[in-house]
Amino acid sequence: MSTIYDKYEAVIGLEIHAQLQTNTKAYSSDKNEYGATPNTNVSVVTLGHPGTLPMYNKTAINFAVKMGLACDSKITQDMIFARKNYFYPDLPKGYQITQDETPICTGGKILIKTEDGQDKEVALTRIHLEEDAGKSIHDLDPYNTLIDLNRAGVPLIEIVSEPEIKSPVEAYNYVTEVRRLVRYLEICDGNMEEGSLRCDANVSVMLKGAKKFGNRTEVKNMNSMRNVQKAIEFEIKRQIDLIEQGETIVTETRSFNAVNGSTVSMRSKEAANDYRYFPEPDLQPIQVTQEYVEGVKKQMPPLPHFLFKKYTQEYGLSEYDANVLTDDKSIALYFEEVTKNTTNFKSASNWVTVTVKSYLNEKAIEINEFPVSPKQVADIIDLIDAGKISNSIASQKIFPMLIESPSKTALQIAEENNLIQNSNADEITELIEKALSKFPDKVEEYKAGKKGLLGLFMGEVMKLSQGKADPKMASKNLKEFLEK
Ligand code: ADP
Ligand code: MG
Repeated sequence: MSTIYDKYEAVIGLEIHAQLQTNTKAYSSDKNEYGATPNTNVSVVTLGHPGTLPMYNKTAINFAVKMGLACDSKITQDMIFARKNYFYPDLPKGYQITQDETPICTGGKILIKTEDGQDKEVALTRIHLEEDAGKSIHDLDPYNTLIDLNRAGVPLIEIVSEPEIKSPVEAYNYVTEVRRLVRYLEICDGNMEEGSLRCDANVSVMLKGAKKFGNRTEVKNMNSMRNVQKAIEFEIKRQIDLIEQGETIVTETRSFNAVNGSTVSMRSKEAANDYRYFPEPDLQPIQVTQEYVEGVKKQMPPLPHFLFKKYTQEYGLSEYDANVLTDDKSIALYFEEVTKNTTNFKSASNWVTVTVKSYLNEKAIEINEFPVSPKQVADIIDLIDAGKISNSIASQKIFPMLIESPSKTALQIAEENNLIQNSNADEITELIEKALSKFPDKVEEYKAGKKGLLGLFMGEVMKLSQGKADPKMASKNLKEFLEK
């Protein structure tokens, strides 16, 4: 059944602020550190004392270039910083040092999945460098707002998308991908609850197929990816309801209320400040040379969308497995190492996504604390493929023993513990004879047509071999033996 909502389409553009994980702040040597005692990482520069001078942070520039390269953006060669002037209690200088006309990166794209699983490129407008403001804390003191300036001056990149996102799910996927990228690049921890990654959603609606965008609202204060999605869902519906009642949408900034999933007006954009941007006189123009960019390219880790493509197209893995493998860089890099040592990619994927990951989950540890090397996992896979050990012996016995004695090889463990699979035809025939001699009646029944009894015989053979008979050979020989 079609509803009024089906007449409209949504237009969404996202602005994401990512705090850069540098040691020091964007324009001073004050420490960039989350959770420190309030107002301890604040020198005169952070406090904006008259006469102090900013200095730019080279690591912040390096990080922004990395993000630009990861998004296929154009890196700006000659750039300057700009002053954005406004008054806010947690902005002691009375202005923010940001970039206006020469953002460090322009263009580029983020690769996402649409709601029906199609690949889509969302174009970026720009990525620019700026600094964070301090934090006003309204909920600690019943009468006063407290201010912590530790965050003032922390470097940020702002990633601005074109209005090409079509649905709340696409927006969710976009934020997920940006977070995955900054984590791969190790430039931001991506923690939305702590505010190291923040997303503002610009939302408008228009009749399907219309050319002219509707008025937009900008929604702030979503502290999780689910909340970005929910806020946009709410906003689309709210705007359509208003238009259907003959109202117009006011361009404004709204705040998301996570308790009831709604948005409320914060301030009108019509009354927006004139920030009176002008070139920051205290910082030199910066040249980002081609040579410098080439150097940064050499520091780039493999990127998740590149690995995803390799795993699905070259390794023949499912999209699901490729997603699990690339979700976290350290898991992906571990898998990369396993596949340098074995070409059985499907089995390597199973070992990493199932056996290794369940162990990590069970112990609540990260892969860098996991004692078994990727080479050892590859060796286990090769031993199975060579018929030397069975799959179940490998996962139930050898794997736990390797965790206990990680300096040994899988083969050593198998040999020392007498776990090498028996592929000796004569010995297997002996086991078969022994097993069948226990069930003379059943053997008759089998020969009379009750083929289902094979499992019983097979079970007995495996039991007599203490799990070590090569199951393929045992099953084949057992059948032949019974047919005789
Ligand atoms: P502002 O400074 O007002 O936030 P920007 O140009 O920096 O403006 O960012 C605008 C953001 O809003 C971009 O992500 C852009 O894609 C998005 N946007 C612009 N127009 C619309 C619209 N009509 N509907 C939805 N999003 C829009
Ligand atoms: Mg904005």
